[in-house]
Amino acid sequence: MKFNYGKLFSRKVTPQSQAIPGSTQVPNSAGGYGWPVDDWMRLERFLVLGSEGGSYYATERALTRANAEAVERCIQTDGRRVVERIVAVSDAGRAPKNDPAIFALAMAAKLGDFETRRAAQSALPKVCRIGTHLMHFAEFVQAFGGWGRGTRSAVARWYNDKPVAKLAYQLVKYQTRDGWSNRDLLRLAHPKAATAEHDALYRWVVRGELPEATPDGLRIVEAFERAKRATDAAEIVRLISEHDLPRECVPTQHLGDARVWEALLEKMPMTALIRNLATMTRVGLVKPLGRATATVVERLRDGKRLADARLHPIAILAAQLTYAAGRGARGQHEWTPVQAVVDALDDAFYATFRHVEPARTRTLLALDVSGSMDGGQVAGVPGLTPRMASAAMALVTAATEKQHAFVAFQTQLTALSISPRWRLDRVVKAIGGMPFGGTDCAQPMLWALKQRVEVDTFVIYTDSETWFGGIHPAQALREYRQRTGIAAKLVVVGMVSNGFSIADPNDAGMLDAVGFDTATPAVIADFARTKARERL
Ligand code: CA
Repeated sequence: MKFNYGKLFSRKVTPQSQAIPGSTQVPNSAGGYGWPVDDWMRLERFLVLGSEGGSYYATERALTRANAEAVERCIQTDGRRVVERIVAVSDAGRAPKNDPAIFALAMAAKLGDFETRRAAQSALPKVCRIGTHLMHFAEFVQAFGGWGRGTRSAVARWYNDKPVAKLAYQLVKYQTRDGWSNRDLLRLAHPKAATAEHDALYRWVVRGELPEATPDGLRIVEAFERAKRATDAAEIVRLISEHDLPRECVPTQHLGDARVWEALLEKMPMTALIRNLATMTRVGLVKPLGRATATVVERLRDGKRLADARLHPIAILAAQLTYAAGRGARGQHEWTPVQAVVDALDDAFYATFRHVEPARTRTLLALDVSGSMDGGQVAGVPGLTPRMASAAMALVTAATEKQHAFVAFQTQLTALSISPRWRLDRVVKAIGGMPFGGTDCAQPMLWALKQRVEVDTFVIYTDSETWFGGIHPAQALREYRQRTGIAAKLVVVGMVSNGFSIADPNDAGMLDAVGFDTATPAVIADFARTKARERL
């Protein structure tokens, strides 16, 4: 047999265990090769995906460290841009959790140059919108050198700039977190009270004293103090109704009472509503054909409420998985899920994505179901793996693009019969239950070529840890374009905050997007819509 140099050094067909000759590929964590994503993409992935729970290949600590290093490099390069990115993701509620944004903001506030630190400090109220966020910030700041004058005055402004009644609500609702309390924060920041009422409020926090005549802005504090001493549920109900006391102010012994929950439901914030569906069902408030059920369902279908609360689709998915199961994660509580609520959660999921104009291209939605996609957990939701959550994300694009097909792949490909009409938890469970295997991210293109399936847009949901096949995914796409004459594109939806991609950064027909970003379905559609000649 003739020795074939071309076969041993081809830019068109290279095994995934080797780098494409002449490319900038680097080894991934799985023994294959992929492209490194730049630090700005890494920042974006970190802000949206976080590193909680780690990944299949990296512990939580290692993943956090690697991401923090990338964020720090971005801060050194252009700190103001980092702060802008943080605010953009956090303020629009694009990420399932706000913690990575707060963490990155603390880094910018401590490690940036003067301008960056100042930008980070003035962005504090936009990123840390509630008391819990502020306590997380206080905790993260410790890790990057502790409190300085800039931190103190930013925290002082956080308190002072809020109208006193709004601040009082925050202070009774979020009392302690992460070992921090409002008292600790006020002692450290030591704000000079903006008004006499602020002064009275700070005195209550630090010393537990209330003035004899309660100022108007502190009514909720007075009600909170009375709730602590209340002996019967009727009084609690009255305090809730008159002063909008949140659940956090209700003594534990009254939290099994349906009347208390009925009163709480009246002004309940959406995040609390999502989290307390099971409890409200267990205590008998939410029941089939019930009045409270109608209220809950109506709010879950209210797009404006969902948007104002920055409710993330992953939070809704998590709520649906838990609620429909009828049993808590630790198994000590049981309830009978009300169908109308489960269905409303399905609608709420789709409603949380901003309106997506369909691209009207032939779209192949390809889910990586290999073993590594079952590692780690998404946004700290127990049992929610990247591969389950990617099915949920793909459903959004399926609901938008009429011409779509679902496939799942590992080293082989399986065509799936999933309909956007299926309920979310059913789809997610079906994907979660598929067999594991190695990873070959070229499978969707190879399959489409072999089966003569015409695809304009390949959307691959993956961690990009591919290693198995005899050809790289980017090469398989180019082969597909050449042999079919279709200027097919590839969107790689990154499901893990690692540093790799299968998308060739030098090919304008390939794009990296971030999984679980509520903006991603629109990004996919925009990219798919762009005329081939503008791109290629
Ligand atoms: Ca894998």
